[in-house]
Amino acid sequence: MSIHVLSDVVTAQIAAGEVVERPASVVKELVENALDAGASAITVEIEDSGKGLIRVGDDGHGISVSEAALAFERHSTSKLFTIEDLDHITTLGFRGEALASIAAVSRATVTTRHRDETAGITVRVEGGELRYERPVGAPVGTIVAVENLFFNTPARLKFLKSDSTERKHINTLVTHYAMAYPDVRFRLIQEGREQFHSSGSGDLADVLVEVFGLDAFDNMLEVYSQPSPRPDVPPVEVYGFCSTPDLSRANRSHIVLFVNGRVIANQSLTYAVVQAYQTLLPTGCFPLAVLMITLAPEDIDVNVHPTKAEVRFRLPDVVFAAVQRAVRHTVIDQSPAVPDPYREVNDGWSGRSTRPTVPGEDQLHMELGEIDPGRYSSPITHIPDSTAIPAGPERPLRPRTLPILRVIGQVGAMYIVTEGPAGLYLIDQHAAHARVLYDQMRRQRTAHQPPDRYELDGTPVELPPHAARQIEALLEALSLLGFEIEPFGGNTFRVRAIPAPVSEQAPGDVLYALAQEASTDRVTDELELEEHLMFCLSALGAYKAGEILDHDQMQALIRKLERCENPHTSPDGHPTLIHISGEDLARQFGRR
Ligand code: ADP
Ligand code: MG
Repeated sequence: MSIHVLSDVVTAQIAAGEVVERPASVVKELVENALDAGASAITVEIEDSGKGLIRVGDDGHGISVSEAALAFERHSTSKLFTIEDLDHITTLGFRGEALASIAAVSRATVTTRHRDETAGITVRVEGGELRYERPVGAPVGTIVAVENLFFNTPARLKFLKSDSTERKHINTLVTHYAMAYPDVRFRLIQEGREQFHSSGSGDLADVLVEVFGLDAFDNMLEVYSQPSPRPDVPPVEVYGFCSTPDLSRANRSHIVLFVNGRVIANQSLTYAVVQAYQTLLPTGCFPLAVLMITLAPEDIDVNVHPTKAEVRFRLPDVVFAAVQRAVRHTVIDQSPAVPDPYREVNDGWSGRSTRPTVPGEDQLHMELGEIDPGRYSSPITHIPDSTAIPAGPERPLRPRTLPILRVIGQVGAMYIVTEGPAGLYLIDQHAAHARVLYDQMRRQRTAHQPPDRYELDGTPVELPPHAARQIEALLEALSLLGFEIEPFGGNTFRVRAIPAPVSEQAPGDVLYALAQEASTDRVTDELELEEHLMFCLSALGAYKAGEILDHDQMQALIRKLERCENPHTSPDGHPTLIHISGEDLARQFGRR
């Protein structure tokens, strides 16, 4: 064959192979374009696993009539002018290749109307050749329909995986973008059935509940950046959720990482997450994590790969450390099953045999099946190795009884202001905390689980005589609740262990308060006495009115309250929260 210059159509088809590998790659490029156009709602429709039709509609700013055909030209973009622009790129696209590549290997139609124009336009390109351009009436936004993908490149078509695999790739892709853009409403319809939708509420937690299901989400903890010990390095923000050591998967595919709003594949950062769970998860078990990493655009190079699936960091070690620090801190600090390194933890209570057995442990190494309507299969839980993880305070295992609430702030060092889907919620910090502590103790008693408690050095404490007599009478009941008290002669006791809710307080004060409150003269019934003691302990241990709480403390409290059986009242029957609905507010402001 003689040497000749390839036709434009053939070069376009060859180049298309770099960007368009499978139907999901088309979905990715079209969704990214919609996001770059500032869409607040994106609908993805798929027929015949994407080989028949991929249609992505958005309500973004649209393309002007004069530029619509140009968008299909190779290297046509509105997002980049000079090579320097690449250093601070904030859009997902910039190469100006996607539409041209897609249109080279399919029959593609763009229908669009720019927000500043009164009429829209439809442009049709088949196998890279412009077929027609016509004015149309259309709402502001863009719909791109891609039909008969790879119709002119049969070799590509042959290399596609099974229909269900291709559909699964599309599912995963759309759910990932929904996580990265919680304020955008996503809808995915495959073969005429809605597979997934997100509310666009702006809250990542809401999207994760849709994706993982409430059960798995209940075992996830919120991750925040932790300050770097090195002040000289540029800041790296990390936000997201990661699983408690009670929830794991058999592979790393549930560790999803985003850098500046881009889903990325990065082995090293995935490893940073896995490593943060060191000694907390048995080998062969991997955490779930969804992490949004944000750093200055000039600190990353996104132009490494045509599909932009990889990024290069200017300071990879700094990013690695930031991710690991944030995840490790979350898992150690908030996780119910991990000891607080600053406290002594009584290991005697944490024997594996005392833990509830979780069914499905043998399924640990099972691969996950195909994603059913936008959800992964039910969570596979396991019992962590008890030698590595002594039981600590609080395990959020209950179903949600309140909507997910977002903490806004604190008023009067007394109330927490939060926002939920149905308006404003004002929460009494003392009442709410008492409810959380009380429920936790009750739950453990009913499940015959050992109470959460901490060991003390047993320094003798002396009580006034009447209080000492009272405590003597309560010794047995107190031991059921986690106290270990040894009479030390006279009015003196050695407190060797104390229940978690009151562990921050001086043991002498706690005993004195209990002696005052829980007089055995008042309650005779054994069960009633225990109830009463739990009630006293929760009130003693709860945040006081006047105590300033930081955002994390408030958020942690609210997350626990969301899972209490009776989140609306404190153990002594006071309201824990006041709900002011959007309608109430509108009425108060005379809006209706
Ligand atoms: P890139 O996204 O890299 O710029 P594309 O080939 O994906 O390249 O798109 C070319 C151009 O077409 C974009 O720069 C943008 O101006 C326009 N465009 C594509 N899709 C949309 C859309 N959904 N809404 C508005 N403009 C779009
Ligand atoms: Mg693009």
